[in-house]
Amino acid sequence: MQVVTTVAEMHRLRSQMTGSVGLVPTMGYLHEGHLSLVHRARADNEHVVASIFVNPTQFGPQEDYQRYPRDPERDLRLLEQEGTDVVFMPGVEEMYPQGFDTWVEVGESLTGRLEGASRPGHLRGVTTVVAKLFNVVQAQRAYFGQKDGQQLAVIRRMAADLHMDVEVVAVPTVREPDGLAMSSRNTYLSPEERKASLVLWKALCLARGHWENGERDASRLRQEMTSLIEREPFATIDYVSIANPETLEELAEIAAPALVSLAVRIGGTRLIDNTILGG
Ligand code: AMP
Repeated sequence: MQVVTTVAEMHRLRSQMTGSVGLVPTMGYLHEGHLSLVHRARADNEHVVASIFVNPTQFGPQEDYQRYPRDPERDLRLLEQEGTDVVFMPGVEEMYPQGFDTWVEVGESLTGRLEGASRPGHLRGVTTVVAKLFNVVQAQRAYFGQKDGQQLAVIRRMAADLHMDVEVVAVPTVREPDGLAMSSRNTYLSPEERKASLVLWKALCLARGHWENGERDASRLRQEMTSLIEREPFATIDYVSIANPETLEELAEIAAPALVSLAVRIGGTRLIDNTILGG
């Protein structure tokens, strides 16, 4: 496995690769969720390139950029075990050198809601860095987790609108045995908060249960989920949404498929999760 820190070196290695390349962009502090993306990329492609870059432009000024967990040595060990060929691990100055001033931004109808409404500028930071990674690595396929459902919809839109020659592949969410979606931010949770964090999964299961019993009224389902979460003292709801998975428009009636997504603060930690009904 080769570890490269510059765009020039990545381009050089890329030019030597024949056959398809799968790209797995990450911010590091890897868990089984990330590794399932690598695993899928390994199965689909001749070469796998993973990137590790904690992207400052997708964090708001009051967010956790500085304290975002980092463990590059462990990450490299895990990536090597999964059969990664190249790890692109640039510094901030390499990705955003002096004078950098170009942004890639998907329109408001996809980015003005959900994560975009709660975290201004976040999705613009994501699309900008992902567009840059696409240019640097020039992969045939790029792998993203379904866990970040809106991010996936926004990246698909960007790739289509800008004629990017890359297939965006969605990979199912990997969960802890009790249902909590794996996330690097789970390490912030105290033992009590860790227990409380299960409320996200419980709310998604509640929605699925009602839907399987024939409930199609989205506002009733949002209300049921909201009441359940509000009974958890550590939890503060940011949003509970039932939307079209592609357009992200809120639904009145659940005509499948529907993206049920939520963002909930557990103590000081903001967690997101989602499920697709009828997908
Ligand atoms: P991050 O390092 O949080 O930026 O995530 C890098 C990629 O891993 C993104 O495409 C995420 O959607 C994906 N990912 C994060 N957590 C999970 C999970 N629990 N299951 C599947 N994919 C995930």
